[in-house]
Amino acid sequence: LADRSLPGRWVRQWAAGPDRAQITDVDGTEISTLQLEERTRRAAQGLIGAGLVPGDRVVLSAPTSAGFVQAYVAALRAGLVVVPMNTGYTRSEVEAVVSDARPAAAIVDSDERAGWIREAAGRPVEVLGPELRLPEAPDAVLDAAAAEDMALLVYTSGTTGRPKGVPLTHANLLASITGVGRAWRWTAEDRLLLTLPLFHVHGLGVGVNGVLAHGAAMDLRAGFDVADVAARARSGRVSLFFGVPAMYHRIADAGAADALRALRLVVSGSAPLPATLATAIGDAAGQLPLERYGMTETMMLTGNPYDGPRRPGTVGVPFPGVEVRLAADGEIQVRGPNVIGAYFNRPDADAEAFTDDGWFRTGDLGEHDADGYLRISGRSKDLVITGGFNVHPVEVEDALVSHPAVVEAAVVGRPSEAWGEEVTAVVVLEGPVSDADLRTHVAQRLAAYKVPKRFERVDRLPRNALGKVLRQSLR
Ligand code: ATP
Ligand code: MG
Repeated sequence: LADRSLPGRWVRQWAAGPDRAQITDVDGTEISTLQLEERTRRAAQGLIGAGLVPGDRVVLSAPTSAGFVQAYVAALRAGLVVVPMNTGYTRSEVEAVVSDARPAAAIVDSDERAGWIREAAGRPVEVLGPELRLPEAPDAVLDAAAAEDMALLVYTSGTTGRPKGVPLTHANLLASITGVGRAWRWTAEDRLLLTLPLFHVHGLGVGVNGVLAHGAAMDLRAGFDVADVAARARSGRVSLFFGVPAMYHRIADAGAADALRALRLVVSGSAPLPATLATAIGDAAGQLPLERYGMTETMMLTGNPYDGPRRPGTVGVPFPGVEVRLAADGEIQVRGPNVIGAYFNRPDADAEAFTDDGWFRTGDLGEHDADGYLRISGRSKDLVITGGFNVHPVEVEDALVSHPAVVEAAVVGRPSEAWGEEVTAVVVLEGPVSDADLRTHVAQRLAAYKVPKRFERVDRLPRNALGKVLRQSLR
């Protein structure tokens, strides 16, 4: 029987397997499958006892910990909709999410944030601590969500504008994690080293959901630290690591990529992984990081093959159940049970995002290579048009970072009378290098119109919590 909901799947996993370690908390405490089931059952009853009803939205904002995962599991078991919120959000960012999501409750570990949430919600909000010590309602019906019920309301990263609320149903999340699990041969024997923040779909929707859906285990870390990751990878206890390109940069810089040898699978996503970096990691780790592509609205879309050849600079082929097509202008459009039906409260965004024939526009541009591997050339909003020619920033950035003195680069268009937009590179350098040297380096690799006209030197690029470059602020 196919599972209808995430809790349906979890309960089946818990019942099927023997009791075993499922979560290693940030302080090293182990939580077994039986403990997780029991604690989350009590907490779910407590949530219902506190007056919450299925379909109510609950903000979850706390640092990574087993308590976070337990609160997430309990809320879904109670039929609530979890709204994960970045713990680094400022007051105005919290207000933007809360005034849109209008939660009935908030699970937060800070009184200050609880106050902000209360004020912005425009309705009474039940504020609960992450430990969820609540009187139980033993008769409460648990694990009863239907496939089409909303499970998560996640806000996009806000890379291109105001974050949009993305209502992911149980069916969306199950379809995605089932396809990904098959592609990556995820089993109960796996242990994921999880250093990603849990308030985003990468850490929560792929990491936590993947572990729970397959009865596997997770080793939670409070954040990313190269030495810690290398030591844990070398210990041989973990089999999977999911990272973002910024993490792989730091692993490569520290000369620690060989530690990844002990892992069964190393994955990169959320932002483009430069081919040079992928190859450097691959050489040291004995396996190319598996680059995959996805977004909040669709979860995982494509990935390089687990068994077949992986191609640096590509995001591979669609996951099982996902359909991908390229529009005439190169836009990647997708369809499948993993894709949301509409945004939350955003008819304007819906009108932009869905085609007349029901495909979702990713806003990303791509092309297929001869074997059907997808290569992402960038976001349509980031495309620089100079003298009538299209320049994809990623291509120029890759050429720049292949120069030994360039640590990082971001390319944007600056308004220019002569060119419409002028290709401008913002670079982080180690060691002296002139603009002329950089120009020559790029000109040896790319057509003349792609060579940056201007260079700006900075100490570091502005990035969001997942390491994505905030090009808007650079412009
Ligand atoms: P917003 O939609 O608010 O502007 P966002 O698109 O960055 O923010 P997410 O849903 O977190 O929010 O990110 C999805 C985007 O991340 C994709 O549309 C794509 O541009 C980018 N992305 C994800 N994986 C990859 C990858 N492997 N290579 C290149 N880009 C990627
Ligand atoms: Mg987006």
